[in-house]
Amino acid sequence: MTAEVIDGKLIAAETRNKVAAEVARLLKVHNVVPGLAVVLVGSNPASQVYVGSKKKMTVETGMRSFEHLLPETASEAELLSLIVKLNADPAVNGILVQLPLPPQIDAAKVISAIDPGKDVDGFHPLNAGRLATGLPALVPCTPLGCVILAKSVHKSLAGMDAVVVGRSNIVGKPLAALLIAESATVTVAHSKTNDLPAVCRRADVLFAAVGRPEMIRGDWIRLGATVIDVGINRVPGEGGKHRIVGDVHYAEAVERAGAITPVPGGVGPMTIACLLVNTVRAACVAHGLPAPAV
Ligand code: NDP
Repeated sequence: MTAEVIDGKLIAAETRNKVAAEVARLLKVHNVVPGLAVVLVGSNPASQVYVGSKKKMTVETGMRSFEHLLPETASEAELLSLIVKLNADPAVNGILVQLPLPPQIDAAKVISAIDPGKDVDGFHPLNAGRLATGLPALVPCTPLGCVILAKSVHKSLAGMDAVVVGRSNIVGKPLAALLIAESATVTVAHSKTNDLPAVCRRADVLFAAVGRPEMIRGDWIRLGATVIDVGINRVPGEGGKHRIVGDVHYAEAVERAGAITPVPGGVGPMTIACLLVNTVRAACVAHGLPAPAV
């Protein structure tokens, strides 16, 4: 069996098109232009690339992008005072502080300072709590993207056995909460899980968010299962270059799975697309408008 490859790039492009259509409608009907502020502290090369892509795609969908670059040496107080300004700025509907932050800044404190209504990363404890209790919330982008990808294969996840490997606050836990909301039967595995291969084999839909290159092997996958690989790992490649691999051993998994996301080109592109979704949703709430059709 060779798996159907889930085209994350295509689904992300479709999602961005839906966002663009909603943004155009908001402008035409309500004279509203959603705005996203992205804050980068320091010059981490990977973060610079992410921030650049976020800015480009925000503008491409017709929204306003506000970029705030702070030096590596910026103090926590400086960042917090910027957050206070962005919270108060009516042109800003979403605030994203690019992680990781330098060691002198407490990321949890910064996240908690963001207005929960502008918390388009969905990391604020209030949004995490709302998600956990089934209330409307801004939900983390990568897990939201994972669910959209899984639902591109299965119209409904109700009653399916979903296994999430990883329990981080940014991927595993919110993903589990979203899957419970989809009425899947959810198992969350982690580094202390006994017999992880057997747990993975139970999955109709397997989500890998471990951060360990190609850890999940082909024979851990039930024949015909759907595999969503969140992992982004840099490993040595040919000629001294690096290549990016997921948390799943793709070459083995593609022979067992029914459908699988590639790395790159799977979950990765969905993360930014979902950030744009969250921004347009936040803008609608801020203006007292009904939820957008995305
Ligand atoms: P974390 O390091 O925060 O969490 C990793 C999780 O995996 C932990 O819960 C850990 O368990 C578990 N784990 C680690 N080793 C094992 C093991 N041997 N067996 C079982 N479970 C294990 O990572 P993140 O959640 O932040 O990210 C996970 C992956 O997703 C990374 O590759 C990251 O690069 C990628 N990622 C991709 C994004 C995208 O846009 N595509 C966005 C965010 C992340 P424990 O809690 O017990 O330590």
